[in-house]
Amino acid sequence: MSIVGERSRMYVGGAWIGAANDKTMRVTNPATGEPLADLPDAGRDDVWKACDEAAKAFPKWAATPGLERGKILRRVYELLTERRDELARLVTEENGKPFEEAKREVAFATGYFSWFAEEARRVYGEIVPPPVPGKRLWVMRQPIGVVAAITPWNFPATMVTRKIAPALAAGCAVVLKPASATPLTALALARICAEAGLPAGVFNVVTGKSSSVIGQVFLDHPAVRKIAFTGSTEVGKRLMAGASAQLKRVSFELGGNAPFIVFDDAELAPAADGGVAIKFLRVAGQSCICANRVYVQESIAEKFIPMFVERVTKLKVAPGFEPGAQIGPLINSEILEKVDALVQGAIKDGARVAAGGRRLGNGAFSTGLYYAPTVLTQVREEMAVAKEEIFGPVAPLMTFKDEAEVIQRSNNTTFGLAAYFYTRDLRRTIRVAEALEYGMVGVNDSTGYTHEIPFGGFKESGLGREGGKQGIEEYMEVKSISIGI
Ligand code: NAP
Repeated sequence: MSIVGERSRMYVGGAWIGAANDKTMRVTNPATGEPLADLPDAGRDDVWKACDEAAKAFPKWAATPGLERGKILRRVYELLTERRDELARLVTEENGKPFEEAKREVAFATGYFSWFAEEARRVYGEIVPPPVPGKRLWVMRQPIGVVAAITPWNFPATMVTRKIAPALAAGCAVVLKPASATPLTALALARICAEAGLPAGVFNVVTGKSSSVIGQVFLDHPAVRKIAFTGSTEVGKRLMAGASAQLKRVSFELGGNAPFIVFDDAELAPAADGGVAIKFLRVAGQSCICANRVYVQESIAEKFIPMFVERVTKLKVAPGFEPGAQIGPLINSEILEKVDALVQGAIKDGARVAAGGRRLGNGAFSTGLYYAPTVLTQVREEMAVAKEEIFGPVAPLMTFKDEAEVIQRSNNTTFGLAAYFYTRDLRRTIRVAEALEYGMVGVNDSTGYTHEIPFGGFKESGLGREGGKQGIEEYMEVKSISIGI
């Protein structure tokens, strides 16, 4: 059986179904524009039903011991590991990222099932000393209830597993709405979960392009107790306002504007490699933790910038299945337009193009949405390209004089997701890591985050954390029990 089944159904209450009104939405391959599937375009009633199904399945799943839940999640991990390449092919088809990168993504996404399979049996409570005689005090954790998850298209596997693995481990039932551009990977994950023995109704996937309608059902349905969202800050704010009506819990992974700082005492080659990797080699720069602003200390700029540019000019842009492809197409024409507008705007305001700086439209690129890996120098802080989340293969380079200045400039943003810096000085490492107002800081390491540590942002980059031991807590309520004896 194909990993995604018929490519025409969504998964609700353990059944593969169409939308009640038979409406469909098309999923296309961004590298070629070819159709990949016509999936149900769910409306309000379909999504309400999915929440009902999750509510029905919740009590039994919540009462299943953590050890047993963990065994099923472990089985999901094993099946996903066996079928990594098949799932990765789907990721490349619908997202466009190079196949090798998709394989890495699927392996990483799969790892969340392994991590949370283990965490499922470690949801400890506490016995607290009472302040008066004749009492006993317990604190316990319980699954929060039905979770509605909404995910973006840039990591079609990881964004889903980082939510559903901890939610399922905690004993919650889930209704997921994946991005309308990349729902096939999510449906494949549902199929694998079912194959691993996850009971019907515990994990449901609704597909549809009326995202605000679907989101509103999640806000309205009384059984949904938590909204877990990854996407833009703008939509996150809207969901947060909506969640206030029933005081639903929320956790948000939102936009970023990551600084990447190279100090004059850094090892320059690893810094250049790290900068290129975190800027360009994750979905062509369409990632929330991508370096968005590169700061180079003045005294080493002449040496570092050519090293960085040389690496960028060697990157291979190609359709995802072409051997050696490192940068695939952007996901849609709006993103391409926005990236190009940021670049052209910066050039108009005085930035210089050191590499790229244009769309690619000939030959293999004629059907896709490709942008040349771009380096801009002489960028100034007030330019939009330095202030906004670029979400494309463009590195704006700026120079700075000293540590205090670059910390101030790095923190001068409403975002606070990821930051990176390179130095060999231990005291500077501690000072700068502590001063950066970011949820995740990579020091001489641009690939820092793993399953074992929490992922999430300060300020308008989000609320709550995913992964780590904190990840499961996001899906639990804390209950205090006071017993008179
Ligand atoms: P987006 O427009 O906010 O979409 C994300 C998801 O929300 C999609 O499933 C989308 O559905 C859905 N959605 C859109 N409007 C909605 C509404 N009114 N109510 C409910 N759901 C709604 O974001 P995007 O442009 O696809 O993704 C890029 C953003 O995600 C960037 O800002 C990036 O930084 C952020 N991101 C953050 C993290 C993190 O961990 N912090 C990770 C990855 C991405 P449709 O697909 O149908 O539009």
